[in-house]
Amino acid sequence: MKQIKRQIRNTKYVSLITAFLLASCATPSPAAEPTSLVAAAVETATPREVQTEAPMRFVLPSPGVEPVSGWRPPLYPVPWAVTSYDHFYFTRPNPADQVNWPQPDYRYGGVFFANEVHTGIDIDAQLGTPVLAAGAGTVVWAGGGFYTGVIDNTTDPYGLAVSIRHDFGFQGKPLFTLYAHMSKVDVTVGQHVEAGEQIGLVGETGKTTGPHLHFEVRLAENLYHHTLNPELWLSPPQGYGVLVGQLHQLNGLLLESTNVRVISEETGQERVVRTYGSQTINPDPYYQENMVLSDLPAGYYRISLVYDGRDHQFWVEVLPGQVTYFTYTMYGDFKLVPPPTPVLDFVPTTPTPTATKRP
Ligand SMILES: [Zn+2]
Repeated sequence: MKQIKRQIRNTKYVSLITAFLLASCATPSPAAEPTSLVAAAVETATPREVQTEAPMRFVLPSPGVEPVSGWRPPLYPVPWAVTSYDHFYFTRPNPADQVNWPQPDYRYGGVFFANEVHTGIDIDAQLGTPVLAAGAGTVVWAGGGFYTGVIDNTTDPYGLAVSIRHDFGFQGKPLFTLYAHMSKVDVTVGQHVEAGEQIGLVGETGKTTGPHLHFEVRLAENLYHHTLNPELWLSPPQGYGVLVGQLHQLNGLLLESTNVRVISEETGQERVVRTYGSQTINPDPYYQENMVLSDLPAGYYRISLVYDGRDHQFWVEVLPGQVTYFTYTMYGDFKLVPPPTPVLDFVPTTPTPTATKRP
């Protein structure tokens, strides 16, 4: 049965490629099967703006890392920040007993072909899985047409989508989240929702090759060019930490679209993360990172990559519930940047209240 499904899926890929790449970011494979790389130009617009150019899209099957299991919701309350630079303000947008890790080979900043960059993360999910608000806020979009700005547009690449303006912001700017490809929307514009409240169901509406949740975090403006890496904003599961890196080439420029292997010293499990592409997406205001891996059990890891034909490797310890941050330059300069020590004028990063009105 699985074999048949896979064949059907492969056929689907071929036809999609042939049909000139009209599929959106999608994760057609169940968690335990090889995952696929699906790149997309996910140009979006605010509900008030209309963008008429359809993005180019690509579908490329490839084996992915088998996701880890045993996900547990964080014990601590969200928002959460161990250091002054962390901002784990959001809970996962799907139930704790479902797949809760980003699709491993198409993360934020992933680039395939023609510099099309992924502006969110994809979470594998069955049709009909509840989609939950990642934080409290007011619904600013509910239904079809988010990309085109045309309400109820049935051909919108995002399909049925919900966007929330949150009750809190960051550094005085409002924060938004976006949930796309849903099969059903349970909220209306203007409605206030709490973190964890069901806002709809996972679907495969819009340009997608299978059911999954596409999730974005946007800062300041609810626009395509204002996304940030959701993996830096979702509170890590219990016992998990977030690895954040800034990798430079010899000439000092950021290392783009390069595979970085992250191998557990304890279990030998290997994860591969691709450094960001150069366009469309934004690094964190503080970290200025070009790679993030959030689904790492705490422990020691070997980081390995090939640059200019040479192997580079170094080791880090990932601590639970916080960011482990390193910088690396290809002449071998590795720095593990410790969490900053609070000083007298230290002002903890806390959610900034914004002027969101509750209906
Ligand atoms: Zn996506």
